[in-house]
Amino acid sequence: MSELKQKDQAYVAGTYKRFPVEIVSGKGSVVYDETGKRYIDMGSGIGVTSFGIADDAWIAAVTAQLGKVQHTSNLYYTSPCARLAEMLCTRTGMKKVFFCNSGAEANECAIKVARKYAAAKGEGRATIVTLWNSFHGRTLTTLAATGQDHYHELFQPLTPGFRHIEAGNLEQLKEAISASDTAALLIECVQGEGGVIALDPAYVKEAERLCREHDVLLMVDEVQTGNGRTGSLYAYMQMGITPDVVSTAKGLGGGLPLGAALLGKKVENVLGFGDHGSTFGGNPAACAGAISVLERMDDAFLAAVCEKSDYIRTTLQNAPGVEAVSGMGLMVGIKTTAPAADVVRVCMERGVLCLTAKDKVRLLPALNIPQGVLAEAIETIKTVAKELANV
Ligand SMILES: *Cc1c(COP(=O)(O)O)cnc(C)c1O
Repeated sequence: MSELKQKDQAYVAGTYKRFPVEIVSGKGSVVYDETGKRYIDMGSGIGVTSFGIADDAWIAAVTAQLGKVQHTSNLYYTSPCARLAEMLCTRTGMKKVFFCNSGAEANECAIKVARKYAAAKGEGRATIVTLWNSFHGRTLTTLAATGQDHYHELFQPLTPGFRHIEAGNLEQLKEAISASDTAALLIECVQGEGGVIALDPAYVKEAERLCREHDVLLMVDEVQTGNGRTGSLYAYMQMGITPDVVSTAKGLGGGLPLGAALLGKKVENVLGFGDHGSTFGGNPAACAGAISVLERMDDAFLAAVCEKSDYIRTTLQNAPGVEAVSGMGLMVGIKTTAPAADVVRVCMERGVLCLTAKDKVRLLPALNIPQGVLAEAIETIKTVAKELANV
């Protein structure tokens, strides 16, 4: 093992099972390891580097801001923060933005908004409903929101006030939303970590109707699905709903830590002075990068995301060793006959970096991945899926 890997294992907390690869550089959707080996990056840092590695426009935007002021605290105004908030509101119809640094923090903000909104209606109304198999983050409260018991076991007691229901089950939905203690429903339009499973739009639409009827907040976790990933700016836009709160992060900053909770009309003034805050939230360099990311996501760009998604689907669907393809846009789950971890390992040996989600191979490539590079990666995945399935 190299000196670097030994050092990392000796000193970095052992929470990550790393692949035996050091990523040293890259450009766009291609990265290189310490030996100079080339890989096509089909994970983009778990859906973060929306325009790929070392993207020129993003570097220019971030470095220009770094040369002016890299951080000031939220005691003062800075231009990128206000401009990004305006951009997010204009493009979504939401009214206000709270900036933070990660997906979990964006959900923490959503949860605080829901609790304060509910508190104004009286006691015992603070329960937040989430779905089994969801993923909302690793802080103790977002862990409580996450509907996967195996994340919970070792960290009791978790924050109280969450109830989980089965995705797609209309009866459970109706019962949960109409319960007198329910404050909000929090959903992912496509469950990401849970296995790249899209919710049925009819179910989401019915959830919206029930939430309106019972004055329950509809909160959508767009941490993974947001910022162009599914072929629309946010995935909820394809479901025909208007959320009260949208949380997002991952691809928003294009590679710098940035999260946001977008607040709709009903809750735009719920948070007041001192109710919430973050030292780094709205950092000018991170926001400048996000502006560069969002301003390039026009209709033509999003249409190209959908085209690449169609290409992946048509190429892999019914391919030998591929049992199903799920997801939306460039958030793709591939159920392979061979175990997903084996497919990912062999793809890596052959120069393609993929992710897994539960029992699936998961792809979250940069949204601007060139078609030729994408085709090369998909051919490798297709070949490996076939070889390992022995078909
Ligand atoms: C990744 C993710 C989170 C957590 O984001 P962090 O930035 O790791 O805190 C929350 N929700 C969803 C849907 C995610 O995919």
